[in-house]
Amino acid sequence: MVRKLTAAAALATLTVSCAPPTQSPMKVRALVLSSNGEYAPTEVELKTITDIVAMEGTVLKMVGGAHIRLDSQDPEANAAKDEEAYLRALLKDAGRPVTASYNTDTAGVLWPADFHTWNLVTTYYNLERAWEYFTTIAEVKQADLPQTTAYYFPEFVLADTSDDPLVDNAIFFSPVKSFLVLPFKAIEKAPLALNASILTHEYAHLVFNRRVYRGSGIPAPIQQWGGVGGSTPGLNVLKSLDEGLADFHAYVASCQTSFGCNTRVLSTSFEGQLVEDRDLSKNWCMSKELYTQLYGGNFNTTFSGREYQVGTMLASALYKASTSAADRQVLARALVAAYADTDPLKPGLYELTRMYLDNQSEFTLSKAARAIVRHIPRGNVTLKNAVCTNLVTHLQIPVTELTGDEDSCPESTTTTSACPSIYTP
Ligand SMILES: [Zn+2]
Repeated sequence: MVRKLTAAAALATLTVSCAPPTQSPMKVRALVLSSNGEYAPTEVELKTITDIVAMEGTVLKMVGGAHIRLDSQDPEANAAKDEEAYLRALLKDAGRPVTASYNTDTAGVLWPADFHTWNLVTTYYNLERAWEYFTTIAEVKQADLPQTTAYYFPEFVLADTSDDPLVDNAIFFSPVKSFLVLPFKAIEKAPLALNASILTHEYAHLVFNRRVYRGSGIPAPIQQWGGVGGSTPGLNVLKSLDEGLADFHAYVASCQTSFGCNTRVLSTSFEGQLVEDRDLSKNWCMSKELYTQLYGGNFNTTFSGREYQVGTMLASALYKASTSAADRQVLARALVAAYADTDPLKPGLYELTRMYLDNQSEFTLSKAARAIVRHIPRGNVTLKNAVCTNLVTHLQIPVTELTGDEDSCPESTTTTSACPSIYTP
């Protein structure tokens, strides 16, 4: 039986049952994708929540009613002297705490009492799972992933494009160092905040930001490499890595869910070609045309959108190389370790972007791929070989650019027949 209760009454009930409202874990129902592919109200535990009404805990702090505006003509933003001032300039209204309300069943499990509470609880649950994946499976230190703000249903305007607030999206927006869970409008399938794979992908952008960009809201390589009119090869590679690795992490994390390993990050929220184009289980091959665009295109114009194509190719190569849970875990850790590493024998992506800040054409897919390979432990011979084979085959990275030292690919690495060579005329 489910009794109707206000939030205050729910807290009173909890107090009576000797479970203080601030104590985690908290048993609550969320909308979770079941093994048959349908979203169902499922009993889950929020392990990190400290305030179930304001939806705040170790992982997230939900904030409602914010107004965020990005406008290249904004005098306040343009006058900002540092990232904090810039963040404040974008945040036209900093918003206020949300108020979730619940019914409680006889077993003491909280049931969201309204649409927004279902959405808030499920968002918190999905991002908490993502945080747990990164801090346990991928071994990111908890101290590196402190509480992040999630603006819930903010008014979010990209004024250079339109004055209409954006809808139907859930994103990590680095200028305000926060997640934005935007209102729904046209989306006919599962809203993005309910989609665990999409939220894990977005959480992966936060992790990439914290490690590869040292948490910067306006990362130096993005600013410097993107500020040119011609080709932006370094930026194209960097953005492709960010997207592809986010999809791979979302895939690995999905293997822990009741639905199981999901190679299609966008499924249940989108359908058709969009979903197929990001399916890691398909055979993706670097083409001459995409290779030319990667190194000759401009990120803001001709290359725009193609970071997903290159990213999917990378994620798919990693997917094909890691077929067991143990290998997936080793690879997930290797990726995160490759984000930043001060060891001069195996510099991480952060170190590489610093090294080539003034010459982005040196930041190539080969160098980034080598950083990844070098972070796969030497003892994992089969995995390392498989990653090497898939990288040289699907991304068409020349073998010589991935070999040459003990931590890199073995000299015996060769391509397979899965993809045609882009180097033969
Ligand atoms: Zn993304």
